[in-house]
Amino acid sequence: MKDYYQILGIPRNASQEEVKKAYRKLAHQFHPDKTGGSEEKFKEVNEAYQVLSSEQKRAQYDRFGSAGFEQAGGGNGPGFEWDFSNFAQGFEGVDLGDIFGDMFGFGSPGYGRQAVRGRDIAIDIELQFSEAAFGVNRTVLLRKTALCAACSGGGEEPGTKSKTCTHCNGSGSVHETRRSFLGSFTKLHVCSTCRGTGRVPETPCRACRGAGVRQVSEEITISIPAGVNDGEMIKLVGKGEAAAGGITGDLYVKIHVTPSKIFGRSGFDVTTILEISVTDGLLGAEKQLETLEGGALRVQIPAGTASGSILRIRGKGIPRSRGGRGDLLITVLVKPPRKFSKKAKELLEELKKEGI
Ligand SMILES: [Zn+2]
Ligand SMILES: [Zn+2]
Repeated sequence: MKDYYQILGIPRNASQEEVKKAYRKLAHQFHPDKTGGSEEKFKEVNEAYQVLSSEQKRAQYDRFGSAGFEQAGGGNGPGFEWDFSNFAQGFEGVDLGDIFGDMFGFGSPGYGRQAVRGRDIAIDIELQFSEAAFGVNRTVLLRKTALCAACSGGGEEPGTKSKTCTHCNGSGSVHETRRSFLGSFTKLHVCSTCRGTGRVPETPCRACRGAGVRQVSEEITISIPAGVNDGEMIKLVGKGEAAAGGITGDLYVKIHVTPSKIFGRSGFDVTTILEISVTDGLLGAEKQLETLEGGALRVQIPAGTASGSILRIRGKGIPRSRGGRGDLLITVLVKPPRKFSKKAKELLEELKKEGI
């Protein structure tokens, strides 16, 4: 037996207001059109609400349990049918627009004129380490749906007029009556003939056959900011696919950074390794390094530098968006030679006597 109170997460003595509140929250959460939604849970929540929101049904449920209410066929079978005539009574006084507010577009500012939206496009871009560090412009060729240049998306042959859409009588929207176990209600749809504009072309545009959109190949230059990380996503609003009479989708650019053989990254700091000889470590030395920019950098290795020491060169790392740059961190590795000459060995024995 189903526990409708448990499904809605409310106590058995919950008020009608609490029932409604719990239902609204869960119906939003589990709505199948939403990410993380679940049709099964949505139906379960609706079933619980349908019973508990009706005083008559709730009293019946409290006495006899859910057997008389449960959906046939395990909760989602096609055999499930509600008696709408009874249900309509139990539903009185509940404001559908209130409950379904942002779920179906009721009561929202765009009520009846839900905007058509073009599809988003996702692409991948491969960058070298230094390109990611300093930013780069990349030009890509995209095959996508764009507004027709000839008619600017209007669909009329230039110089001709439009007429009132007969499908929606110029209102731009059509009614659709839906029946569900919550009762039947009417939803306004964008008219598919005029795409919500209320007007249709008298003479359709020849370039796009009146569609207002065309398939095009478009070159887009993407300005990749300095300091992007591997795996980051850049969103370019309105660079996706167009929809006639609607909003253009977005372009999502996923960044892939090819690892560098020389440099690593730690936040805004760049890391690198410098190998030096034992004597350079002991006596100190001046060394030349390749920088991130590709230039040469002279660094002083202080006398007595131990292997594994880190030298910090300020301002030679990744540029920060607010200005300034991270540092270059050089890990110094002292590499002893594998072979010594006879003379070198004698000298080292002398050094040993000196306590070095
Ligand atoms: Zn056109
Ligand atoms: Zn229409």
